[in-house]
Amino acid sequence: MTKTCAICGREFEARTSRGKFCSDACRKKKDSNRNRTKYAANIAENRARNRARRAADLEGFRQYEREKYHQRRDAMKNRNPAP
Ligand SMILES: [Zn+2]
Repeated sequence: MTKTCAICGREFEARTSRGKFCSDACRKKKDSNRNRTKYAANIAENRARNRARRAADLEGFRQYEREKYHQRRDAMKNRNPAP
């Protein structure tokens, strides 16, 4: 039966009714698309988790930011010593 490839849209002769792809190349492309989607989902999940962790530990996060700020300020002071 003639089917349309789900990836490239080319018509091809499918051996089974379940065949969706014209070639192995298109089948692989589909797999890599799925992996990329999975990967993107992981990134979004990690970002959400980090945000939640920061929110839960807001005071710790503020402390960390304060220390960083002081370090930067001291570094600046050392670079431009007062006369
Ligand atoms: Zn194809």
